[in-house]
Amino acid sequence: MKCRQCEAKAVINMRQHKLALCANHYIQWIVTQTQRFIEKYHMFTHQDRILVAVSGGKDSLSLWDILWQLGYLTEGLYIGLGIDGGVNYSSRSHQLCVQFAAQRNLNLISVNVPQTYGMSIPEIAAHTQRGKNKPCSVCGLTKRHIMNQVALEGNFDVLVTGHNLDDEVATLFGNTLNWNVGYLQRQRPLLLDNHPGLVRKAKPLCRFYEREMAAYALVRGIEYIYDECPYAEGSTSIYYKGLLNQLELDRPGAKLSFYLSFLQAKETGFFSKPINLEYGEENVGAGGETLYTCPKCGQPTTAKGLCSFCRMMEKISR
Ligand code: SF4
Ligand code: ZN
Repeated sequence: MKCRQCEAKAVINMRQHKLALCANHYIQWIVTQTQRFIEKYHMFTHQDRILVAVSGGKDSLSLWDILWQLGYLTEGLYIGLGIDGGVNYSSRSHQLCVQFAAQRNLNLISVNVPQTYGMSIPEIAAHTQRGKNKPCSVCGLTKRHIMNQVALEGNFDVLVTGHNLDDEVATLFGNTLNWNVGYLQRQRPLLLDNHPGLVRKAKPLCRFYEREMAAYALVRGIEYIYDECPYAEGSTSIYYKGLLNQLELDRPGAKLSFYLSFLQAKETGFFSKPINLEYGEENVGAGGETLYTCPKCGQPTTAKGLCSFCRMMEKISR
């Protein structure tokens, strides 16, 4: 198959866009489309300082690479979870992030959870008895806290993550199955810093398929960690992704259309009142709940008193 733009051999055929491109035109297409999404959802500008959360995986490193190519002011944030899983998961992923940043002369901020809090993520989960056999809820809570804290302390304007379309659609599918309205309201390409202690968050890759990001990393020669976190195995989101891949096989474009129709439904008032994708309300969480400030860490919380992270940390210090 040949590239739509030139006669070179195509490296990818995107059935949902009826578009095949060679390596060079594919890189250009991804970079241009990302800029388009950044502008469409008013995510950030070239004056903003951007903190890119990187895990060592293809999505977050590709995102950092794209923003770097677009000339944005970026620094990376790597959070070492202390997860080994027999494959040195955390140390290998850290090493790949360090190497990526060094190759481009970019600054990487690293926070090591075991060194900072005295325990790894699996140890905190076991100690606090949260999350049955998996440390994922502890991990998510800790990562959100650290990302917000580093962004605030470093005076960054926005925190960006590498969530791709497959991630967003799996989340949307799960929340729709359970009609989890609060989470559905919160799911957007951009979340505003509408409360003191809260940083603006954006997902510039939310409209790219996972395979498109894998192809981008490959043609750009980005070295990333192929292994999933060992705790990801058997997760509900991987199960949903499998179901949705089956749907996509039969109906190319189904995932993209599910996600875009969802965003459109939000804008036109599917939820009791129209939700502006760009602007939030002061001191109101994205799900409509009132926000308070945690007296210990200063981050927002939906309940009065300590936030969930600080309550968890109190438990492990006892
Ligand atoms: Fe954390 Fe994800 Fe691993 Fe769960 S699967 S422990 S959330 S990195
Ligand atoms: Zn707190």
